[in-house]
Amino acid sequence: MKITGYRSHGVAAAVALVNAVTVPEGDAGPDALRRILRVNGFVWQDFDPATADEYRAWGRELRPFFEAPDLPSAVAVLNALLDRTPTNPHLSDHDGLGLHLHHAPPSAKLPLRFRSTTLMHLSELVCSYGIGRTGVCAAPDCLRVYADTSRAGRRRFCSETCANRTNVAAYRARRRSPTP
Ligand SMILES: [Zn+2]
Ligand SMILES: [Zn+2]
Repeated sequence: MKITGYRSHGVAAAVALVNAVTVPEGDAGPDALRRILRVNGFVWQDFDPATADEYRAWGRELRPFFEAPDLPSAVAVLNALLDRTPTNPHLSDHDGLGLHLHHAPPSAKLPLRFRSTTLMHLSELVCSYGIGRTGVCAAPDCLRVYADTSRAGRRRFCSETCANRTNVAAYRARRRSPTP
């Protein structure tokens, strides 16, 4: 199954939004939000700064999914969100993207489209991989979340930076306390 690329751009968008909104060093200002939308292919309508709070609220609501300790909790989070996110799937072909599925009602504005697409793509990810592909960074002082869309799927950190400094710290700890 292809989990990178246009059809799953909602997964990367969800990660970027949660990290922008719920992590102390995150930037959830209008420019940062506009960039998250653009980078992840939400180009159907321009970002309206007046709607910024809708995205921020959504980022806070998505975070518990990444923090879920087990599959039933993650499914409960997604089902609760799906329950109150209006959808009306339809096919669309715009901006040279080729035919693809839109999940929100045709009349929906960008914030609702963003909600429904991130939610559907996270749900599809969970159906295929459970919660083994998503989580909170394993570095001890990092609160960022991640989604692993690689083939191997063994990622535990938000970034190479966190992976490297955690591995270096573990190596130093081993050298400091050699096993007897
Ligand atoms: Zn589209
Ligand atoms: Zn990290």
